[in-house]
Amino acid sequence: MKELKLSTVQAFDREDLEAEKTKKRLFIGLVAGAGTVVVLFLLLILVIPLIGLANIHPWAPYIFSLLVGVLLFLVIGATFGLIFSILCGRSLPLFSKIRGITIKLFLPLMTLVGKMFGISKAKVRSSFVKVNNDLVSRPGKQFKPQEMLLLMPHCLQRSTCEMRLTYSINNCKRCGKCPIDNLLGLSEHYNIHLAVATGGTIARRIVVQRRPKLILAVACERDLASGIQDTYPLPVFGIMNVRPNGPCLDTNVSISALENAIRQFMDPHFYPEKKYVSLDTIRLGKTKSSPDKEQKTTNTA
Ligand code: SF4
Repeated sequence: MKELKLSTVQAFDREDLEAEKTKKRLFIGLVAGAGTVVVLFLLLILVIPLIGLANIHPWAPYIFSLLVGVLLFLVIGATFGLIFSILCGRSLPLFSKIRGITIKLFLPLMTLVGKMFGISKAKVRSSFVKVNNDLVSRPGKQFKPQEMLLLMPHCLQRSTCEMRLTYSINNCKRCGKCPIDNLLGLSEHYNIHLAVATGGTIARRIVVQRRPKLILAVACERDLASGIQDTYPLPVFGIMNVRPNGPCLDTNVSISALENAIRQFMDPHFYPEKKYVSLDTIRLGKTKSSPDKEQKTTNTA
């Protein structure tokens, strides 16, 4: 099995940063495409049955036209509202529920439109996760550590490890052979509950038991997209895992990306005195000094 390398995670971070703009553009294109498909469909069902409806009742075509007209207005409004929101970083007055519209209406349609244009589901889902993160990140509420939950996929655990983490993450022996060790360190550092889920059902059970107000979830784009949909209106900020061994096997996550997300949402009153120093950083000798000294150097800079 390949060893987990910090450089893999850093390379992923760089790639992810570069891909962010592309993901946004793809999302806007797909939303516009999905909106157009629905508008065309509504226009089609508006024209075709009008003649037949007149035979049922003279008013029937007008009532039907009114209903379809309202639907058309809603779809066109939602499409432009969402595109405006993504481009400008703020919602129109009547579009405070824009994340709900994106999740409930556009994601299924975007997947269909993406399929029509040969865009893979993975790309559609990852652009959806990116835009969801933007919408969740809008300035607003900040959270206490106990209101946040770090939800991890089981595939982060080393495949040969026999410890059962879904029952209790504290069963980890912290041998450092997989990212769980570092994630435990991060969760202790920020005093945020950390849980590992083997699938959607267990993830839902954890959420019901913990009742968090914000979830920071790590997973592949498929599980993130479905998790975001399942838990709506609960805000979920998604971070893609790194898969150097292919899907679902000995995956990894960027600890710095996760820490940045924690600090983005956590009320600064609850920040620990120092930033977390990743065990990988220490092991790879990136810091020649102790964590304390490094922090001091950073602060001075
Ligand atoms: S860090 Fe924990 S979960 Fe990972 S291999 Fe070691 S004991 Fe298993």
